[in-house]
Amino acid sequence: MSFASLGLEDFILSAVEKAGYETPTPIQEQAIPLVLAGCDLMAQAQTGTGKTAAFALGVIQNLVAEDSHVPGVKVLVLTPTRELARQVCNSFQNYASFAPRRIKAMTVIGGESIDDQTARIENGAEIVVATPGRLIDFIEHDAIDLSNLAVLILDEADKMLDEGFAEELDKLLGAMPSERQNLLFSATFPEKVVKLSKRLLCSPLEISVDAEPTVNTIEQHCIEVNHENRGMLLRHLIKTESWKHTIVFTSTCRGASNLATKLRAAGIGASALHGELPQAERNEVLYRFSKQMISVMVATDIACRGIDVSGISHVVNFDLPRSPEDYIHRIGRTARAGESGKAITFVGHEDQAHFKLIEKRAGIFLDREQIEGFELTGDPIVQQRGAAPVKGKKKSKKDKLREAGLLPPKE
Ligand code: AMP
Repeated sequence: MSFASLGLEDFILSAVEKAGYETPTPIQEQAIPLVLAGCDLMAQAQTGTGKTAAFALGVIQNLVAEDSHVPGVKVLVLTPTRELARQVCNSFQNYASFAPRRIKAMTVIGGESIDDQTARIENGAEIVVATPGRLIDFIEHDAIDLSNLAVLILDEADKMLDEGFAEELDKLLGAMPSERQNLLFSATFPEKVVKLSKRLLCSPLEISVDAEPTVNTIEQHCIEVNHENRGMLLRHLIKTESWKHTIVFTSTCRGASNLATKLRAAGIGASALHGELPQAERNEVLYRFSKQMISVMVATDIACRGIDVSGISHVVNFDLPRSPEDYIHRIGRTARAGESGKAITFVGHEDQAHFKLIEKRAGIFLDREQIEGFELTGDPIVQQRGAAPVKGKKKSKKDKLREAGLLPPKE
């Protein structure tokens, strides 16, 4: 299967060639003809499967064919994080670089100057990639015209819902015409995404690609270690195994900063990426990591969602992810676009039950390993059951009503 056989025109094929893509990925094969045909889509695809091009190529081709004199934004992409928004916007700009007319794409995201963004919208941006919060600000201030919107794309819809997106949705929908093409991409389809899709999509076509090929190329390990020894073990592994390009996940912003500081003190080039850092610093860290100027990035989930940095050799779950979905997302940072990679999860006594649940729900079962010098010590945590209620001691509803004087006393 070639890109040309999917119905793409020469100017898109030139951009695809420039990006170095030879054949479409499975999600691209399925999605591109449907996007070109103007269908609503509900697509299940992990990051790393080429999903951005799966929606962007067809959307750009359709946009170029439209009348450029119609005012306002024509294509709106919503993403859960600023970093992903910037990445998706870059992809649109690259894929549109050979278009017969100039297509302007921009981000509308927090942490950047509102005035600059307003000026660029007024300057005729046709494609906007936004995070919901900042977009709502623009809508409330009448600073963006969505009345001629032709395509709405939700990228990583499952994550957006976790961030309270459902509550913001009505405001967004109220600003756009009801007749439009809707494309919803999500790595997983929990109940809340299905509900959202029913509100948004009109007789959508459903497509999915097997997540297996991506996850299968990742070598997964579970290393048992006491919590207090995780930092030392991490430094030991990075140094002795000469890890080159590593993302370490922590559950808190503070944990990420502390760990990055400790790694630097041990002579390892590391920086933290989390939501409490100013946007400029987040951009800088991501840039330096993607250019391999630092070898380790210590990140929280929110800052890292959907980030496409190539050549990541190791992903470490220093703290456990909250859900099986987050586990899959985290480890999906490595082994992208056919490369191989390792994912290592640290598990202490207090994590065993939670990790077992993640394994069960994600359908993976990893051997427990220990590293010499860092063996797990102490006793497993036995889950204590609460004391069983003593039969006959609990007050009945009638007893409570009697006490309150609402029923006559017992004879
Ligand atoms: P995504 O799933 O959109 O985050 O894309 C993951 C990575 O795959 C990105 O680095 C893309 O540039 C790359 N990619 C997308 N489509 C193709 C393709 N057809 N062939 C090779 N690489 C691709």
